[in-house]
Formats: sequence, C-alpha cells, structure tokens
Amino acid sequence: MNRNPVLPSLTLPTEPKALRSVDLLVPQTYSGSGFLALDDLPRVALEAAARAADDGFEWAVKTYFDGVVGGEPRLKMNLSLKGQMHLICQRCMQPCLVEIKESRQFVFFANEALADAFPMEDDALEPLVASSQFDLLGTIEDEILLSLPLIPKHPLGACEAAAAGPKADELAGQDEIDKKAYNPFNILKNMKKKE
Ligand SMILES: [Zn+2]
Repeated sequence: MNRNPVLPSLTLPTEPKALRSVDLLVPQTYSGSGFLALDDLPRVALEAAARAADDGFEWAVKTYFDGVVGGEPRLKMNLSLKGQMHLICQRCMQPCLVEIKESRQFVFFANEALADAFPMEDDALEPLVASSQFDLLGTIEDEILLSLPLIPKHPLGACEAAAAGPKADELAGQDEIDKKAYNPFNILKNMKKKE
C-alpha cells in the first residue's frame, strides 16, 4: 500500500566532491553507490595508522518519502557502509585491520529545532536537517567515524607481542590498562560539529 506520489529518482554522483552538496529540498529521491578512498575522507584519514591499497569504504544511499499519519511525508535515507582501514592496535600499538559493515537510517527535518525535538527512542532513526546543499560526504564520514571501534585491537593472539607468548594471567586486567592509555575522544573530536 503505497500512497506516495511517484517521484523522479536521481542517481547520485560518485565523484566525492559532488557529494558535498546534494539538494534535498526538491521533490525527488536519490539513489547511488560508490567507493571512497581515505584521501576522499580527510577526517577518517587522520585516524589511519597505515595505508593499504584496499583501504576505503563502499557506500550505498537511497532516499525515499515515508507517509506520516495526519502529516506531510517525511524524507528518509538509508545508508550502507562496508570497508576497511588500519588503526593502531591498543594491545601492541601496531597497525591493525579494522573492517566495518553498517547500515543506518536517517529522517530529515526542515530545521535544527525540529531535528533536536525528534525522540531518539532507539538508534533506528537518526535525525538530520535537510538543505539544498546537504553534505552527504560529511554525513558518510561521520558514520564511518562512529562505526570505528573505540579500542581497536588485533584478534586475541594475533599481536606480535601475543605471539611472543604472554601468559594468560598477564593478559588479565589488560582491558583496564588499554582504556586508560587510549583516549576515545581522539575520534570524537574529529566528528563534524553540529551548528
Ligand atoms: Zn595488536
């Protein structure tokens, strides 16, 4: 049962800079996908401990209008991310491969006050402000940063140090030490500031 009018659907550009300005105020929907290398994602690149040829993130986006009882249809967006990069392992301080596979849903509002008022009962829907120059690349970058582990580590036993043979009791309490040594706000501070 779809009572929404059929709107024209545009294909999003794959060129990263073009994703910095997407007009969400026009009555049309978007879909598209592409690949972003670390060089296309300056704030994510700041977190990279090393670069490998395969590092980067595939993205796929689809926007649609969703009916609301007694109101205007709301613009929503699905974002899928899949990719990898290298962060510093907090156990051995060597680069470790981190893979992410995420999908997020967003709902758009006309202004910041309405977006702030949206109840975030669960993480199912994230409110954003629609604009004629919406920074989709910045949003993708924010979601990658949010998806990265706060305390990246090699799989247990894969660190060079672990390979040298630490005893089980030496590993006990290691998590506490790691948390003290590593400041997760290093990632958060690179998040885009909301106006
Ligand atoms: Zn390690």
